[in-house]
Amino acid sequence: MAKRDYYEILGVNRNADEKQIKKVYRKLARKYHPDLNPNNKGAEQRFKEATEAYEVLSNPDKRKQYDTHGHAAFEAGFQGSEGFRGWTGAPDFKAGQEKGFGSMFEDLFGDVFGGRKGAQPAPEPGKDLHYNLEIDLEDAYTGKSTYINIRKEGACEQCHGSGEEPGAIKMTCRNCKGKGAVDSGLGFMKFSSTCPQCGGSGKITSACRVCSGQGTRLKTEQIMVKIPPGVDNGTKVRVAGKGGAGIRGGRSGDLYIITSMRHHPFFERKGDDLYCEVPVTISEAALGAKVEVPTMDGTASMTIPPGTQGAQVFRLKGKGMPHLKGGGSGNQYVKITITIPRDISEEDKNLFRKLSLLYKENPRERLVRRS
Ligand SMILES: [Zn+2]
Ligand SMILES: [Zn+2]
Repeated sequence: MAKRDYYEILGVNRNADEKQIKKVYRKLARKYHPDLNPNNKGAEQRFKEATEAYEVLSNPDKRKQYDTHGHAAFEAGFQGSEGFRGWTGAPDFKAGQEKGFGSMFEDLFGDVFGGRKGAQPAPEPGKDLHYNLEIDLEDAYTGKSTYINIRKEGACEQCHGSGEEPGAIKMTCRNCKGKGAVDSGLGFMKFSSTCPQCGGSGKITSACRVCSGQGTRLKTEQIMVKIPPGVDNGTKVRVAGKGGAGIRGGRSGDLYIITSMRHHPFFERKGDDLYCEVPVTISEAALGAKVEVPTMDGTASMTIPPGTQGAQVFRLKGKGMPHLKGGGSGNQYVKITITIPRDISEEDKNLFRKLSLLYKENPRERLVRRS
C-alpha cells in the first residue's frame, strides 16, 4: 500500500507554516489519541500516521528533505543531494513513544498540560481549623445550634476540588505507564510505591485554571454548629469535615469550636455546679420562709428553716449544669445573705433594741482569746 502524503494526512497545503501544522496536528492528536480511543485500531492508525507526518513536517530540515525527495528521503540508505545521510527509517511510533515522543508531546501540549507537566503531588488532607465561640450560660445549659462564618480553604467551584481542569484531555502517566505505582530498589529489595508524577491515578491531566491545580480556594463559608448542653470554658466541639478543604481532592480537615463562657450576672460556675447568693430579711432568716430562687430552668421555691444564718449554704440537687458526657447534672448551691434596713426610724430602732434582748450569749465567743 502506498504511503500517504504527509500534507494530505494532516490536511494542510504544501506551504502551510509551522504554526498551522502544529495546530492541525494538535487537533488530530486530541481526536485520535489512544488514551481517548481505547481498543480502536482505526484511531490508533490515524494517530500514528498523523504523528509521523507531524514529526517530519514540524522539523525544518526533515521537511525540506521530504519536500525534495518524498518518502524516499527517509528510506534506509538514502543519500540526499546535500550530503544528507538519511534517517534510519521512518520515525517509529513505538520507539518515539518511549523516548523522544513524550517530550515532543509535552512541547505540543505544554499550554494544555501547563502546571501539571512536572510532578503532580498526591492529594493532601485539609487543615484542621479552630474557632473561638463565646456563649451564654443559658445556651451552655440547653445547648444550641448556631451559624458561624469562617474564612477557610473551600473546594474550588471550577473543578469541585479535584484540581483538574474540567473536560481536559487525560493522558496516561508516562512515569508509571498508567499503573499508578512505580517499582524501586533492586533484587530482593524491590518495592512498589505510589507514582509521584500522577499521585497514583495513572493519568496526567491539566491543572484547573481557577485554582492552579490546588483544588481549593479561600472563601468565607457559613457553617451550622451544634453546641451540646454542658460545654464550659475550653470545651472543644468537633465539626467533622468542616475544616479546610483537602488539596487536590484530599479529605477535608475538621473544625474545632472552642467555647468560652460569657460572664453571668448572678451565677458562678465551678465545674458543673452553680453558685449564687440569695438575700433574705432578718425576719425571714429568724422565722423561716419560702423564698424564690433563680435556677437555670426557671424560678424555684426554696424553704429556709427558722434560725437560718447568714452565709449558710443550701443545696438544690441536680439544678446545676448538665454533664457534657451525659448522665445527670451538677448541683446548685444557694448562699444566704441577710439584709439589714439602711435607714431606720426611731420606732424601728426601738424594735431592734427589743430584739437585742434575744441574744443571751456572745456570738463572738469563739473568737475571744483564752488565757
Ligand atoms: Zn479548581
Ligand atoms: Zn504515574
